[in-house]
Amino acid sequence: MTFHRMWAELLPVGRNPASGGYRRYAWTGADTDCRAWFRDQAEARGLAYEEDRNANQWAWLGDPAAGNAVVTGSHLDSVPDGGAFDGPLGVVSAFAALDELRARGARFTRPLAVVNFGDEEGARFGLACVGSRLTAGHLTREQAHRLTDGDGITLPRAMAAAGHDPDTLGPDPERLDRIGAYVELHVEQGRALDLSGDPVGIASAIWPHGRWRYDFRGEANHAGTTRLADRRDPMLPYAETVLAARREAGLARAVATFGKVAVEPNGVNAVPSLVRGWLDSRAADQESLDAVVTGIEKAAREYAEAHGVDLTVARESFTPVVEFDHALRDELTRILGDRTATSSTATSSTATSGTETSRTAASSTAARRPASSRTAVNPAGLKVPVLGTGAGHDAGILAARIPTAMLFVRNPTGVSHSPAESATEDDCVAGVRALADVLEGLACP
Ligand SMILES: [Zn+2]
Repeated sequence: MTFHRMWAELLPVGRNPASGGYRRYAWTGADTDCRAWFRDQAEARGLAYEEDRNANQWAWLGDPAAGNAVVTGSHLDSVPDGGAFDGPLGVVSAFAALDELRARGARFTRPLAVVNFGDEEGARFGLACVGSRLTAGHLTREQAHRLTDGDGITLPRAMAAAGHDPDTLGPDPERLDRIGAYVELHVEQGRALDLSGDPVGIASAIWPHGRWRYDFRGEANHAGTTRLADRRDPMLPYAETVLAARREAGLARAVATFGKVAVEPNGVNAVPSLVRGWLDSRAADQESLDAVVTGIEKAAREYAEAHGVDLTVARESFTPVVEFDHALRDELTRILGDRTATSSTATSSTATSGTETSRTAASSTAARRPASSRTAVNPAGLKVPVLGTGAGHDAGILAARIPTAMLFVRNPTGVSHSPAESATEDDCVAGVRALADVLEGLACP
């Protein structure tokens, strides 16, 4: 299967041998190599390659001007020492799904494109989804031009150095108007599919999430000479608040994390004057998130008062829930549900090698194509799990503007943004098959 060849080509690019993780930061050499790979893949397939005004890459089958296009893809950049799958799995699967559809003899009635959105992770300039935000008009050129990396290099300078014109950045409504559906396949960033025993799932929504800054202010003093009773030590209520966050999140079936902390004066032998902690919290719905955040703040105020410490809490960012398009999600459920039902005998004999698996998929599709079973919602459709996610994606940015859906591929470790992120070969192949079925259902009705 072409998936394995493409995967092997990308695997060494930007890999840090010390950690085994990837450092494919936007507009660096590794990113440029990934982008060259994308262009090669497009051209090798005879697809029309283009780079849009925001340097996102597109590979077109059919005429984009015809409108109502079906687009699939993801991103190729990474977080510091990220895993191999977050992003590239969606791009590689997109090309592989296209190959499979061509092998099936699919006749496309809508234009189809594979996309690589630039700078999704925001690892270098601190803002995620820059390529899709610019395209959707959620980030202005002026704002983008002010982004600066840790070495003081601005985004426009970095883009120019990588051979892209930063002056063209900006919203691209005409492009979005031509897209009828965007489907992003992504490795799952969690263990829901592992726990349910399913290789592939469909996204329902991106959880609402936010960041809050907690400033606990006490009094700096000597760690050796200050009696315990005389201290106003902000570390104590902070520590209790961290535990409260864990407790409140558990009660609301949400997540809450203090992952960053700054201490002043930050001396081993000094009672701190200030402990500043950043809370990141996410939940399936707004009500649960409110319950967690309110509960943590209430507890923190009690702890602060008990220790004679002042507390201020400031919300630094907030993103409301992103619901993926219900009609498109139901369509995906129907397509994959039908497939589960019609290919159940075939999949029971599925071999583990990629070639065998894709052949099985192709034959089962050919067998069911004449039947009109897709017009009804098959009860088996319920077997494709629909799950929410706490992570942001380009698909979440675009969802406000165009019908958008996501497929998740099982990640047995549940870990992401780390070299421990994983997916088995069989599950990757299952993801390609699912994506191919979805694209066929949407673009070859
Ligand atoms: Zn990603």
